[in-house]
Amino acid sequence: MTTTICVAGLGVSGIAAARSLVRSGHHVIAVETGQGERQRAAAAELAGLGVEVRFGGGLPPEAAMVVTSPGWRPDHPLLLEAAAKGVEVIGEVELAWRRRPAHAAPWLALTGTNGKTTAVRMLTAMLRAAGHEAAAVGNVGIPIVEAVEKPYDVLAVELSSFQLHWSAGLAPRAAAILNVADDHLDWHGSMEEYARTKGRIYERAEVVVYNADDPTVTRLAAPYAEGRSAARSGGPYAEGRSAARLGGPYADEERVAAVPLDVPARTTGLSPDVPVKVVGFTLGVPAPGQLGVVEDLLVDRAFVDDPVGAAEELATLADVHPLAPHNVANALAAAALARAHGVPAGAVRQGLLDYVPDPHRIAHIARIDGVDYVDDSKATNPHAAAASLASYPAIVWVAGGLLKGADVDDLVRRAAGRLRGAVLLGTDRGRIRQALARHAPNVPVVEVEGQDTGVMDRVVTEAARLASPGDTVLLAPAGASLDMFANYGARGEAFARAVHRLAAPAGG
Ligand code: ADP
Repeated sequence: MTTTICVAGLGVSGIAAARSLVRSGHHVIAVETGQGERQRAAAAELAGLGVEVRFGGGLPPEAAMVVTSPGWRPDHPLLLEAAAKGVEVIGEVELAWRRRPAHAAPWLALTGTNGKTTAVRMLTAMLRAAGHEAAAVGNVGIPIVEAVEKPYDVLAVELSSFQLHWSAGLAPRAAAILNVADDHLDWHGSMEEYARTKGRIYERAEVVVYNADDPTVTRLAAPYAEGRSAARSGGPYAEGRSAARLGGPYADEERVAAVPLDVPARTTGLSPDVPVKVVGFTLGVPAPGQLGVVEDLLVDRAFVDDPVGAAEELATLADVHPLAPHNVANALAAAALARAHGVPAGAVRQGLLDYVPDPHRIAHIARIDGVDYVDDSKATNPHAAAASLASYPAIVWVAGGLLKGADVDDLVRRAAGRLRGAVLLGTDRGRIRQALARHAPNVPVVEVEGQDTGVMDRVVTEAARLASPGDTVLLAPAGASLDMFANYGARGEAFARAVHRLAAPAGG
């Protein structure tokens, strides 16, 4: 009998999930709430494949399972209806995991509030340098439900907290959490729930990689040092993990069987008592069992024959680019995952050299009159902006946008000594100005009003006026861009164009 699956939301992952389910002979009903051009085009394409598309409406009564978009909040009426009726809800990542062919590529997975894309690209470069057919997937690259059907031999998987929320059964070969800071709390409800969701990535991993410099991540990893059973029954975030949601160890495998997805359900092969290798990474000198930094070297004391004895050199700090403390942390996390998959030290270094940063991540735009202009438009929350601001000694800070309720006091307090000036734009600029008045009262602040296309020119002109030779004008907004720009990329491009106009004024 054909099973009916409801695909909720026709974003990139929803479209891929619907296509994949149709290919394997399922009846798919897609429910989409938006009526924009993009959604209509997706609906037309899927209708051509035999998908029934509905705009709005509740849970189709015949649906045996829901595959939801990571953009839908868990309290969406359709998802609440599914929960009330006992219809299982999963995400596209979980679908991919269940549908992966036998002997499929192992997953090396990572999550974190910030640095995911950087670390997953570094990891992919390291794997390729070691000769693997590797792809970066998940929250980047091609949809993972498509990637599992391609002949890769290992997947570097970036997972957002939204994706992890709907992925209860993943068993990656190794899993890393880069950092946990408050973000997306509106979606997850509380910091505790957000951290718990991130911690889900460790639940079935053979190797648990954690940031030893981040207390929340360290707490999430700590129970695994005692073995998987201990981690399941205890741990700081375990209390709220309801039996109903997890259903005990590996209950999800049973649920897979309840809703046939053509690929038969398989157990992960892991028993709760399989020992877990727990590996830390730190910007300091590593303890045995950790990766870290000794003088100007990245070293490994975890995947070596004698972790108590000598450390193995992986790379030099100069191999990390752009060189900033947070990128060294990303490199160490990527290296730990690569090493868990047997990548030799030489390929770790080569991967770092081959790595090409994505745009708008501390990208150097120009040096004008001795002042460097850097675009870190992707610093869309205070934790990311803090990492950015910690990377330069003397800064004219360009910030603002939508703070999404986040607190900037801590960020401003920590950065105060480095600030030579600040230029603020966007909806929540007043909140940043107030924090600056409290913690950096001597720093000159300029607010640039308006939503017009010339805003960035005025921002850059003001920043240039405040900067002295040797300073860095740093766009690290600490907020989302949507109040003024289509996305963080458009904001970064507007900044870069304004910098180039400053360097070569029209007609000048
Ligand atoms: P993500 O995919 O998690 O959004 P990115 O790698 O795209 O992360 O980096 C986004 C921004 O986060 C960067 O521009 C930088 O400001 C900041 N960032 C990157 N790595 C880290 C880190 N390890 N810790 C804190 N902030 C970071």
